[in-house]
Amino acid sequence: MVKATCQALAADIVAWRRDFHRHPELSYAESRTAGVVAGFLRQWGLDVREGVNGYGVVADLVGAAPGKTIALRADMDALAIVEETGLPYASEVPGVMHACGHDGHMAALLGAARVLSGMREKIAGTVRFLFQPAEEIPPGGAKGMIEAGALDGVDAIFGLHLWSEYPLGTFYTTLGPMMAAADMFTITVNGKGGHGGLPHKTVDSVVVASHLVMAAQQIISRQIDPLDTGVVTFGTLNSGSAFNVIADSAVLKGTVRSFRPEVREYLQQRLEQTAEAIAQLYGARIQVDYVRGYPPVVNHQAEAQAALAEAEQVFGAQNVGIMPPNMAGEDFAYYLQNVPGAFCFIGAGQPDQPVYPHHHPRFVIDERALPLAAEWLCRMALRYVA
Ligand SMILES: [Zn+2]
Ligand SMILES: [Zn+2]
Repeated sequence: MVKATCQALAADIVAWRRDFHRHPELSYAESRTAGVVAGFLRQWGLDVREGVNGYGVVADLVGAAPGKTIALRADMDALAIVEETGLPYASEVPGVMHACGHDGHMAALLGAARVLSGMREKIAGTVRFLFQPAEEIPPGGAKGMIEAGALDGVDAIFGLHLWSEYPLGTFYTTLGPMMAAADMFTITVNGKGGHGGLPHKTVDSVVVASHLVMAAQQIISRQIDPLDTGVVTFGTLNSGSAFNVIADSAVLKGTVRSFRPEVREYLQQRLEQTAEAIAQLYGARIQVDYVRGYPPVVNHQAEAQAALAEAEQVFGAQNVGIMPPNMAGEDFAYYLQNVPGAFCFIGAGQPDQPVYPHHHPRFVIDERALPLAAEWLCRMALRYVA
């Protein structure tokens, strides 16, 4: 019955998603989006709280009888990317794009809210809908939502990410560690600039920075246990202004990913020590600003098993499975540090089409994943409060 109701709502869910897609908003600036979400939820009779940690929306669907409280979460923010999909409903906001699928997460969760709001008399307990701001930018919207009470009284929480690299009609999760801890760093190399033909009178920031980039690669390849997981990525390296001038300084920015707390600790320590040693080697000054980002997403086993069991009803047992952990980061991690729950991936790759990764200007999802996502969310809720 939930399956039929969600499929009947498919056109609406797709229309909501396209509206969000046309009007993307950056992290901590989701005012229009939050207004649209809250408007629907109110119209459907939910108790709606707005302005939770910025533009967060928390809405309770209180059932006819008392019982457990289950939370379902979607994220609302878009990215600073110029869209190149050429879709008729492409972004109308220059330089901003829903390139991670959060527009689809919101539409699917609204779909679940719509369906469940019509079943209130069958619900014993409360379904709480969390629409959180700022998943993409640390410290992440989840943390502030929790501090503002979004998890108060919640017995379990579930969330999903549409995933373009898994095909439409599939569902994956893990029974434990799922997504990595995601830290970031800025490293400033201060050398001594000068004439391009007189290197001996300078401390060449470009050479120092280059050595640091290469040396840092060996922290992963030579210093951590090969059976442990880690990533050190330099995303930007900026230095210099002219071909014949030795640059005074260089600024490098990057991210460090890991799962085990000991590895996380070690990677930070080794990056700092490597920078210090290279500074000494060349007579430069190097400053490392290391910021801890999201903790790893670690699913709770019983809840992940429940998620898989419901997913089998939606996707068919042959399309549901355990995935290897993924080195992307997610602030859903904070919810799972506070209450039991699970985070899951729902395949949204278009069959026979090139797949562009998340955060790519040509990223697309197959919208047929949306009613399936809504159905899974409904089933998770009803499993706890039916
Ligand atoms: Zn993203
Ligand atoms: Zn995302």
